[in-house]
Amino acid sequence: MAKNGNNSSGYHLPKKQRTEDKIRSLMLDMDVLDCPVCYEPFTIPIFQCENGHMACSSCCPKLGNKCPACALPIGHYRCRAMESILESAFLACRNAKFGCTHKLPYGKELTHEKECIFSQFSCPAQDCTHSCSYKDIFDHYNFTHVNDRFFSGPNLDHLKDYIPMYRKNRFNKGSPFSFQMNISDMMVILRDSEVKLSFAVQCFREPYGVYVTVSCIAPPAPEVGRFSFRLSYTVDGHTMTYESPEVKRILKVSFQTPQDNVLLIPNSLLRGELLEMNLCIKKLNQE
Ligand SMILES: [Zn+2]
Ligand SMILES: [Zn+2]
Ligand SMILES: [Zn+2]
Ligand SMILES: [Zn+2]
Repeated sequence: MAKNGNNSSGYHLPKKQRTEDKIRSLMLDMDVLDCPVCYEPFTIPIFQCENGHMACSSCCPKLGNKCPACALPIGHYRCRAMESILESAFLACRNAKFGCTHKLPYGKELTHEKECIFSQFSCPAQDCTHSCSYKDIFDHYNFTHVNDRFFSGPNLDHLKDYIPMYRKNRFNKGSPFSFQMNISDMMVILRDSEVKLSFAVQCFREPYGVYVTVSCIAPPAPEVGRFSFRLSYTVDGHTMTYESPEVKRILKVSFQTPQDNVLLIPNSLLRGELLEMNLCIKKLNQE
């Protein structure tokens, strides 16, 4: 006869009180949450042999349902104890020290971290090792590099010229604007003070011409928004236009020639070092 009226069966004992432990966290070697065969994070279901050796559901068929440790059959009995440990295992986002408060189920953290708005971005200025969130990149750039001769080019003080063009809602309206860029400068950073976004326009000299591309220094998070761009180059009455369905978002500016999302200006249409271009960056409607 159970003494507790709410627990007449006697099987559901009151849960152990851990109120004082709510703010403490358990230390666990995370390797135990990975399949010992493929080393990938376990997902439910998890199987065990009669001796208690475990393997994940994708490894069991690959092993011919034979335990790799003791050769007994594996793939029929679930390891419910490990499954409940897995269900209760949460990891803090790797950007917690920068302010992210997300707690993520073990093994699923990459999905969030790829688009975490607290991700750290490398400052695109040459020789600068500063890294910070994409919004702080904007302020860092303003304070540190706005008067830089950005990449060693002859008469380059272009950053000052471009900032005033970024008026309120420019991107929402998608207004096109013209700008010049020296091929040898390799990069111009365009910034929007309203949304605190930085865009990199980069040139890559190849044997048959120059590639020009635009990317956005921000995480692929929904709150950042998505943008398309249309880039045109005009010379001697010829206009070449490239329309990209979406501006690529990058963590770090790369100096590898891109394979896609580029305007290719062939050598025959180049006139010296200066490129006169027209760019329209437009915010895409969120679905
Ligand atoms: Zn496995
Ligand atoms: Zn076994
Ligand atoms: Zn995060
Ligand atoms: Zn910097």
